[in-house]
Amino acid sequence: MHAEPDQVRRAEHVRQLLQVTARLSSAVTEAEVVDIVLGEGSAALGADTGGFWRIDGDALVLAGTFEYPAAPRTLVARLPLEPWIPIADAALRRTSVWLESLQDYRAHYPRSVARVVDHLKATGMAVACIPLGRDGDIRGVLAFAFSRSRRFDDDERAFIELLAQHCMQGIERARLYDAERGARRRAEEGRERAAFLAKASSLLAGSLDYETTLRNVAMLAVPRMADWCAIEMVTGPGQSEQVAVAHVDPAKVELAKELRRKYPPDRTQGVYEVIRTGVAQLVPTFTDEMLVAAAKGDPDRLRLGRELSLHSWMVVPIRERERILGAISFVGAESGHAYGPEDVEMAEQLGERAGLAIASAQLYQAERRARAQLARLQEATAAFASARTLEDVGQVAVGLAMMGVLADRVMVWRCRDGDDALELIAHGGVPPEHVDAIRRIPTDADVPVAQVTRTREAFFTDAGFVPQVEGVVAGSAIPLTVQGELIGVLGLAFYQPRTFANDERAFLRSVADQCAQAVDRVRSYDEALKAVRVRDDFLSIAGHELRTPLTALHLQLGSLATLARQDGTPAKLGDRAGKALSHAERLARLVDELLDVSRVAQGRLTLDLDDVDLGELATQIVTRLDDELRRAGSTPQIQVVAVRGRWDRARLDQVLTNLLANAIKYGAGFPIEITVEDRGADAIVSVRDHGIGIDPEAQARIFDRFERAVSSRHYGGLGLGLWISRQIVLSHGGSIAVSSEAGAGARFDVILPKAGPT
Ligand code: ADP
Repeated sequence: MHAEPDQVRRAEHVRQLLQVTARLSSAVTEAEVVDIVLGEGSAALGADTGGFWRIDGDALVLAGTFEYPAAPRTLVARLPLEPWIPIADAALRRTSVWLESLQDYRAHYPRSVARVVDHLKATGMAVACIPLGRDGDIRGVLAFAFSRSRRFDDDERAFIELLAQHCMQGIERARLYDAERGARRRAEEGRERAAFLAKASSLLAGSLDYETTLRNVAMLAVPRMADWCAIEMVTGPGQSEQVAVAHVDPAKVELAKELRRKYPPDRTQGVYEVIRTGVAQLVPTFTDEMLVAAAKGDPDRLRLGRELSLHSWMVVPIRERERILGAISFVGAESGHAYGPEDVEMAEQLGERAGLAIASAQLYQAERRARAQLARLQEATAAFASARTLEDVGQVAVGLAMMGVLADRVMVWRCRDGDDALELIAHGGVPPEHVDAIRRIPTDADVPVAQVTRTREAFFTDAGFVPQVEGVVAGSAIPLTVQGELIGVLGLAFYQPRTFANDERAFLRSVADQCAQAVDRVRSYDEALKAVRVRDDFLSIAGHELRTPLTALHLQLGSLATLARQDGTPAKLGDRAGKALSHAERLARLVDELLDVSRVAQGRLTLDLDDVDLGELATQIVTRLDDELRRAGSTPQIQVVAVRGRWDRARLDQVLTNLLANAIKYGAGFPIEITVEDRGADAIVSVRDHGIGIDPEAQARIFDRFERAVSSRHYGGLGLGLWISRQIVLSHGGSIAVSSEAGAGARFDVILPKAGPT
C-alpha cells in the first residue's frame, strides 16, 4: 500500500528532524550547531544555499553559511537591522518571512530587491527567513534560498520552524556549555595560578641564594604558567642582566639567545621599560603585524621571531617597596598560554615576593660579607704583625686583596724619600713577562698608581678608568700613607668590569692602612737592627782594643804586688798594688761583659765542653773571691757535693763569679750561702744572700740586657751580668731563676743538666 505523498514527506521530515537532533546533541559550539542546522535543513528542504545571521547590536552579522557563493557573502556579511531587508524584517517582526518567487520578493521588499537582484539570481528566487529566539528574544535569523520559485506549504513551514527551534536550543546549549567550560577553565587557571604562586613563594622564602632560586622560579613557571620565562636583574644604575631563562624546549632557548645576540634588545622597551617605570606590561595576543614591526624590515629577524611562535606576553617588575630590582617575563607560545589581567595580578604578586626575598638575601649577604671581611681584617692584623721584611708585608697585602675582593692582579710599590719612582716590592697574579714593566714606575707617569702619589686619594675604577694593560678593564690604586707621609701604593687590576661597593672600598682602605703601618714598622725595625749592629760592632772593637792594654796592665800589677810582698818593701806599697790589681780585675770583667754582649748578639758564644766538677769549681771561686768577701764583711757558708757534668768550665766560672759578686755587692755585711746539689740528671747550684733583695716587679727583667733594679748612683754595674749568665746557662740546656723579696735577700738557682747541651 502506498502512503499519501504528504504523509511520506511528513515521515521524511520527522526522520530528518530526528537526525538533526541526534547530530546537534554532539555539537558543542555555536558554529557547529549552525553548520548542522544549515546543512541538514538545506538538504531536507532542497535549498541551494543557507545562512545564519546573529544579531549584534543594531546589525545582523553573518555567522555561518551553507554553499554560499563568495561574492554575495561579502555583500551580506553585515546587514543593518532595518525592515526593508527580509532577513532583518523577520528579526524585527519576530516572524518568519516566506518569499516564494522573485515577484513575491519584489512586491514585499522592492528596495531590497533592487540592490540584490543580481545576488538573488545567484542565490535563488525563493527565500525563507526564520527568526531564532526564545520568549520573544530574537538572537538571529536562519535563511534558506532556492534557485527556483517554489511554494512553502504548511508542513514545510512547520518543519523549518521546528528546525529553527532546535537550532536555537542547540545554540543555547552551546553557549551554556561554553560558559560552563569557561568558568571551569577559569577556575582551573585560578587554581593553577594560586598553586604556582604558593610553590614559587616557598622556593623564594626557602633559600638565601637568590640567583639559584630565581632560576628555579623560572623553571617552575615552565610549562605550567608559560612556555618561556626569563628573569632580568638590575646590576647597577641603568644596567641589568638576564640571570635566568627557561623554556620547555631547550632548542628554543638557543634560538632566543641567538636572536638576542644578533639583535640586542631595544633598551627603551619591554623588560627595560618595566624596570624603568615599575609598571607591568601585557600583550594578550601577539599578532604577526607586531612581529613584522619588531623585525624592522629584516627578513632574517622576522623569520627568527616567527620561529619562536610567540603568542602572549606579560612582564612584571620585581620590586621591593619603591625599589625595582628586576623583571620577570612570561611568554605563551606553542601551548597557547594566553595572559589576562588575572595573570598579571598573580605575576605582580610573585614579583613582590621575589623582591622581598632578594632584598633580605642581599641584606644577609652584605652582612655575611662584612663579617667575612672583618674576620679577614683580623687575620690581616695578625699576618701583618708577624711580617718581618718589606717583602713579607707586601705579600700579606697581596694575598688579602686577592682574597678580599677577588682581584686578578695585586701589586705593592714603595716610594722612598727623594726617589721619583715607585719601586715594586710584592706582586701577585702578574704574568712574569709583565713584571719588569712595572718594577719601577715614575711618580709623574700618567697611570692611576702614579697619579695617587700626587693626589694622595684612593682611586677606584668608576672614576674613569682608562685601560692601559691588555686584558685589564678595571682597577684601583690606594696610597699607603703613615702620618701623612706617602710610603707606597697598593694597586689592583681586574679582567672583568666591576665597581666597588662601599664595604669593599672600606676593606681595601683598611688593608692599605695596615699595610702602610706594617711597612713603617718593618722600616723602623730595620733601622733599629742596623743601629744595634753598629753598636755591637763598636763594642766588639772597643772591647778588644781595651783588652790588650788591660791584660798588660794586669800582668804588671800582678808582678808589682808579688814584688811588694818581698821583705823591705813598705807595707803600704803592697796594699796599693793589691787594690790596683783588684780594680784592674773589675775593669777586665766589665770589658769582658761588653765583649760577651757582642759575642751573643753575633751568635758567637761558643762552648768549650769538658768534664767539670761543679762542687770543686764553686769552692775555687769562693776561695778566689776571699779578699772581696772579707772586705764586704760577708762570711761565705759553703755546702757543696761533687757533681760532674759536661760543661764549659770558664763559662760556668763566669756565671758563679757573677752571682757571688752580686751577692757581695747587694748583700754586703751579711753571710752568703753557696750550695751545690746533685739532683740525678741535674746539678743545682744556689747562691743566697741576705741583702737588699729584689722587687717582684723587677725580678723578670733583671735577666734582660742593661736591666737593673737599683740606681747606678748607689751601685755600679752595666746590667749585663745576669743577662750573660742566663745566655750561658741556656746554651748549656739549663735554667736560672731568682726568688726574692725586697729587703729580704735574694736567692739565685741555676739548674744544669749533667749531660750538657743537647
Ligand atoms: P749589675 O749587677 O751589673 O747591675 P746584673 O745583670 O748582674 O747587673 O744584675 C741586674 C740587676 O739585678 C742589678 O742591677 C740589681 O738590681 C739586681 N740584682 C742582681 N743580683 C742581686 C742580688 N743578689 N740582690 C739584689 N739585687 C740583685
